[in-house]
Amino acid sequence: MILQDNLNSIQQRIQAACGRCGRAAESVTLLAVSKTHPPATIRAAADCGLVYFGENKVQEAKAKISMSPGRLRWHFIGHLQSNKVRDAVHFFEMIQSVDSLELAREISKRCDQAAKTMPVLLEVNLAGEASKFGYRPEQLLAELKELNALPRLEIHGLMTVPPWSPEPEESRPHFRRLRELKLECEEILGAPLPHLSMGMSGDFEVAIEEGATMVRIGTALFGPRAKTVMRRAPETD
Ligand SMILES: *Cc1c(COP(=O)(O)O)cnc(C)c1O
Repeated sequence: MILQDNLNSIQQRIQAACGRCGRAAESVTLLAVSKTHPPATIRAAADCGLVYFGENKVQEAKAKISMSPGRLRWHFIGHLQSNKVRDAVHFFEMIQSVDSLELAREISKRCDQAAKTMPVLLEVNLAGEASKFGYRPEQLLAELKELNALPRLEIHGLMTVPPWSPEPEESRPHFRRLRELKLECEEILGAPLPHLSMGMSGDFEVAIEEGATMVRIGTALFGPRAKTVMRRAPETD
């Protein structure tokens, strides 16, 4: 089966990358990015043993999550609009894309109403790309204490999507910068942050070499997605 073959090859590449830098393969979590793919594909992936899934649109994810095995664990990885926060808090076990204090406050408020806490990652736009969401590093450092003080938010680390390039090595300085930024955040918070979510189909091995604890992989696992008009457009559903 193609999906199982793809998964085996990704797992081998994760192991090899871990081997190159003396890390245990278990220190890297594979997040299967199932956006645009139907529930049948998600079930097939679950049958291969995958547990962690990533979606970038709340509407789409809601429908698919309710049709998927209950043991799967869902991470939100897209731009989150405040009117979708209530649903996001209900359906996802982690929000990897917190990119403003306003959004963080809304998540904390909705979690309070639902009597839960939400593990989050702070998304960083390292190259200052206008087409992407995410904190500029300076702003993140400036707002970090206020973010950390929100009662229902648990900051677990940082996430980034580097500028697109066909050459994986081009991503390395961005991944390295995210790792350094995590150290700066830990200094400010006086506590360790366990997660660095970085690396996608084209560059996950480099990300692992630079310290990724979570790699988010769609295309290398499921094959190409149907083309959309704009890449990484904000959701409008
Ligand atoms: C789509 C997406 C991915 C997966 O990208 P692939 O190149 O298909 O592996 C990872 N992270 C985010 C935030 C995404 O939107």
